[in-house]
Amino acid sequence: MKKILFQILFLIPLCAQLSSCNADDTPDSDASKTYIPVLDARSLPIGNRPMELFKDDENPNLMYDKTDRWFRVNAPLQVIQSGKDSIQLSLYSPVGLKDVKIYAKIPNFEKRILIFDFSEIPSFHRSFHQIPFVAGTSNYITEHGNRVNIQQIPGFSNGAIEFSVESTDPLMAKFKKIKSQRLVQFESAYHTNELGKFLPMNPVLAKEAITMMINFSYALSHPLYYDTFMNFDRYKREQAARAGTTVNGALDWHGNAVDENGVYDYLTKAQIQNSYNAYLDSRTVYPSMVGGGSAFGGGPLASQWESGYVRGHWLGDLSVFSHEYSHHVGYGHDSNLANSGQGGGQQEMLSELYRYLIYLEDLPFLNPDVLQGWTKTNYLNAAYQKPVFTINPQNTFLLKYNGTGKWN
Ligand SMILES: [Zn+2]
Repeated sequence: MKKILFQILFLIPLCAQLSSCNADDTPDSDASKTYIPVLDARSLPIGNRPMELFKDDENPNLMYDKTDRWFRVNAPLQVIQSGKDSIQLSLYSPVGLKDVKIYAKIPNFEKRILIFDFSEIPSFHRSFHQIPFVAGTSNYITEHGNRVNIQQIPGFSNGAIEFSVESTDPLMAKFKKIKSQRLVQFESAYHTNELGKFLPMNPVLAKEAITMMINFSYALSHPLYYDTFMNFDRYKREQAARAGTTVNGALDWHGNAVDENGVYDYLTKAQIQNSYNAYLDSRTVYPSMVGGGSAFGGGPLASQWESGYVRGHWLGDLSVFSHEYSHHVGYGHDSNLANSGQGGGQQEMLSELYRYLIYLEDLPFLNPDVLQGWTKTNYLNAAYQKPVFTINPQNTFLLKYNGTGKWN
């Protein structure tokens, strides 16, 4: 009886405001019932238009379409409304997800409603699905497992539904820890208009770039990185103490002013916090590929060599990319946030941390076999061997943390 009362009270707000539900006061005999089918996205009917994103032989023009291909690094599983009555589901990940539940929050009803239940979504998957409210009046369960009856809703204006995703898959737990909100897209101008300076990307390299951007963003979000970034002076002192030397170069982060006679424009704690936020904010980044003698970064651009995509990031060789990424954030060669001189700044610290996170197995993606980029010789300009990671025993984070520091 308690449960019946709760259901009735619980449904009043929606009925009063939307007139689109019926209070169903029949207790559920089967508490595990979800009222929607469990779907396996590996074997969907043709009507769902399932496809593989960034298939090796896909036309690169598709990945340069920034209205179609984009994702935020903290949401590799993307659910967006398509038309008035459907969703487009895309997974920007080299590894699939198991047990994914998609919830909808509709206007004037405060609880999230389970609308799709996937047993499995394969890597780099896309498909389209009609929102079940459109098909007819039916029962659903809320995020708390209560039954709700929703009358048919013929369609939705854009933004009227908020979608959210939950999964028991450990990979989803890692995605949810990512604090960076960078928007990743591929810009054709860097690839087709300035040949010699840049080279075209292709889907094989794009998959590596996406994998790297998610891992890189996880590393930037990691408590060990935040702690070291906020206390870089401590990192420098500890490094010097271990080497038995004085601190080499600047003692702490400094900005873009020219360094004269060892005088640096050191950042205040508040400025360091702002800088950290800038590394993680919602601006757009275009991972691109170097085609000439130098890598470039600045504005949305952050480029690196093909070898960095195929091998380097799996080995924690993030020196070049982190340098270009720092240009993208706004730092020049007079700041140790970009520059590698003076005993190492951001480039050195971030690469060391990244390698330590590989050693701890504390990144979303650790196994280069998920992409096997080095085997796809038809799409590469050089020959590469499979990347095999080993930790340097002198790694600064290994020396300090000695196997601890994993992010729960
Ligand atoms: Zn530079």
